Amino acid sequence: MAVSLPVLTDPPPNHDDVATWLASLGGPFWIVLTGDDDRRCRVVTTLLHGNEPSGLLALHRWLAERPRPRTRLAVLVANVAAALAPPLFTQRFVPGERDLNRCFQPPFDDVSGALAQAITHDIAAWAPECVIDLHNTSGKGPSFAVATRRDPRLERLAGRFCDQLIVTDFRLGSLMEIPLIHPPLADCPILTLECGGARDPAAVEVASAVYHRLAEWPDLAALPSTPNLDVLIHPLRVELAPDAGIAYAREPEPGTGVTLWARIDAHNRGVTPPDTCLGWLGDGGLANLQARDARGIERIAELLCERDGRLYTRRPLRLFMATTNAEIARSDCLFYAVPA
Ligand SMILES: [Zn+2]
Repeated sequence: MAVSLPVLTDPPPNHDDVATWLASLGGPFWIVLTGDDDRRCRVVTTLLHGNEPSGLLALHRWLAERPRPRTRLAVLVANVAAALAPPLFTQRFVPGERDLNRCFQPPFDDVSGALAQAITHDIAAWAPECVIDLHNTSGKGPSFAVATRRDPRLERLAGRFCDQLIVTDFRLGSLMEIPLIHPPLADCPILTLECGGARDPAAVEVASAVYHRLAEWPDLAALPSTPNLDVLIHPLRVELAPDAGIAYAREPEPGTGVTLWARIDAHNRGVTPPDTCLGWLGDGGLANLQARDARGIERIAELLCERDGRLYTRRPLRLFMATTNAEIARSDCLFYAVPA
């Protein structure tokens, strides 16, 4: 089966800076490195979001080493158009188009859908042993992995790169859901790795470790298990209610439904105890927020409560992906939460 997106096989080291290199390519492409055993292939996908460059930065640096992996390694650089939309590496998706990582389910009849469909086709063509999809978080925080099911293969992989694996039952149309909708890849282990903040140099090192280890491991099935991996099952997405406003500040913003503490992303580590103040609520109180589970049942009151206009945790919670970017909070969610 032929690959549909452009492929650069064993490219010579590139001496341009990343921006120049990306601009010269102009669109999505695969970098394919010949392996010692080309009957097997491993896949890394990067830059599904144009403002999450760590996977690309680590790739550009790694290619200068002229790597020779054990198996064929195919690396996708996906949303080049969004990354190049000025200013460089600031746009999650091209303005006016859909978020590419919400398009891996029908319909595929626009630019983002067509690209998602081409990526799905190409991953099936590689018939990979595993896929690792590299992202950055918008707020600060440690690296963590996300999967759509419990699978020992995914847990062994995740434990090599982070301490925490989130198993989500939300179906949003992300790349890691391909096995659920594309039967030829039904058994393919796909892991999302959130490498850390988009501007954090440590996130580039996490991405770098993915390339080095996928290139070096002779046999994924021989990876030891990771008993210390913290597996969090089915977190809830805390979202703004329709029409509720959001602000980030150090005091309540008058007339705004939800004002979150300006450094809410500090809660992306460890357990947030009960009765921790996360911000302030305007008229309507807790109704400015919602947290539907994957079956559509509203569960916000199990997580959070309001007293005297302040927003508190109701119980010990693990929070993650808390953003301080109001645009992401509006279009995606405020944070994920799971009772600790
Ligand atoms: Zn992302």
